[in-house]
Amino acid sequence: MAKIDSLCVYCGSSTGNSDVYRDAAARLGLILAEAGVRLVYGGGRIGLMGVLADAVVAGGGRVTGVIPEHLQAQEVGHSGITELLVVGGMHERKQLMFELADGFAVLPGGLGTLDETFEMVTWAQLGLHDKPIVLVDQGGYWAPLLALLDAVVGAGFARPENAAILEVVGDVDEVLGALAAAPAPRIAAREERF
Ligand code: AMP
Repeated sequence: MAKIDSLCVYCGSSTGNSDVYRDAAARLGLILAEAGVRLVYGGGRIGLMGVLADAVVAGGGRVTGVIPEHLQAQEVGHSGITELLVVGGMHERKQLMFELADGFAVLPGGLGTLDETFEMVTWAQLGLHDKPIVLVDQGGYWAPLLALLDAVVGAGFARPENAAILEVVGDVDEVLGALAAAPAPRIAAREERF
């Protein structure tokens, strides 16, 4: 059983065009606050990222944002969170978010969310870490991605067990349960591997 004290959430810097996504981000924020799980995220106050962080703060929870200097103006770094760590660049941001987290959840998002998610999946595929990664297929948003993953496996370009590194749930209510049920990580992250 994995113990999740800090959860890194990847999600859109936009809100998308359905309230389903915004509502889900707000609900996950409250769930984390109530469970006493610290949110680790990209530090912005816009899009689903901002909705999520605001909800954790409103629920009395802890939030650590990690934002690169060059994005701080663009994404409007969130000033109301527990701590905002400003780093030199994107690689440093993703590395620090990885190190601070006991597991990962992915909400609907765009290209940046895809990049961040697949970086964690491919690091796990290479045996660099085994922290749990839960994809929240809220409102069926990720269905085309899941179909693509099936096609990639079907065509022989990924092993089924590597595609299965992404554990899929249908709703934010299932995130903490899925993370807790995942095996406890056994790989000690060693910086030189990255
Ligand atoms: P998006 O899903 O594109 O709205 O972006 C969500 C988060 O991913 C934001 O914090 C972005 O800063 C970050 N992001 C955007 N583009 C990239 C990229 N090329 N590589 C890594 N992260 C990115």
